[in-house]
Amino acid sequence: MLKWILLGLGLAFAYWWLVLKKKHDQEKALEPRSAPPSQLKPKRMVSCSYCDLHLPEDDAIAWDGRYYCCADHRDNLSQKGWWGRAQWRASPNFDERPASIKPDLVVIHHISLPPGQFGRDRIIDFFQNKLDARTHPYFEQIAHQKVSSHFLIDRDGQVIQLVSVHKRAWHAGASQFFERERCNDFSIGIELIGDGESAFTNEQYTALAQLIDFLAKNFSNLQFAGHSDIAPDRKTDPGKSFDWARIQRLANLSKEQLPFGVEVR
Ligand SMILES: [Zn+2]
Ligand SMILES: [Zn+2]
Repeated sequence: MLKWILLGLGLAFAYWWLVLKKKHDQEKALEPRSAPPSQLKPKRMVSCSYCDLHLPEDDAIAWDGRYYCCADHRDNLSQKGWWGRAQWRASPNFDERPASIKPDLVVIHHISLPPGQFGRDRIIDFFQNKLDARTHPYFEQIAHQKVSSHFLIDRDGQVIQLVSVHKRAWHAGASQFFERERCNDFSIGIELIGDGESAFTNEQYTALAQLIDFLAKNFSNLQFAGHSDIAPDRKTDPGKSFDWARIQRLANLSKEQLPFGVEVR
């Protein structure tokens, strides 16, 4: 008798289990399908241009095609001599500074290409040896020249860096700062887009003052001169429209830092 009871219970249990399983399978079929782990999009990893830290792209600060782990690293001078705040448009026109020389002079220039036109592209082309001589008669005269500057400040205040500040850019040419010749050896060149006639923009003065603050944090005892101050027979830039008194005020420069004074010249 017990045998039949056990058999009955066994059958009832098997039936109950089958019904439950079917219900479970039906419910599962209705669930939205989640993608298998292998199909989840992996986070794109990038590295900080300052410290090489690897981090997910979403967590990084993106700027000019580069990434930074934090604002501090973007705002600092990289070991290789590049400012994260600038756009980087590398020029091949540089070489090594003489051994153990740290820059202690900043040379201010102006440039416009063709003269009187204020676009930045032709200037960057020129500094990268890519200026097309056929596109303007003036370019035929200069396209073969190999020149550069560490920085270029556009009319809108955008700062572009072309050469590492640790390297010697070719901006000053034959020049003399008091008793010292060959100013490229010990200087940092800054070009402002302008033609020497039109006033430089407010944005350019603000950007120049910020760039000077940044340089002063990294190089002690900086002095400032115009290209015309160190090559008076050949050069007139930055010219009479450059307001030396204004940049002295904005960048908080001392008299000693401006050995040629602040008068218009
Ligand atoms: Zn970093
Ligand atoms: Zn110049």
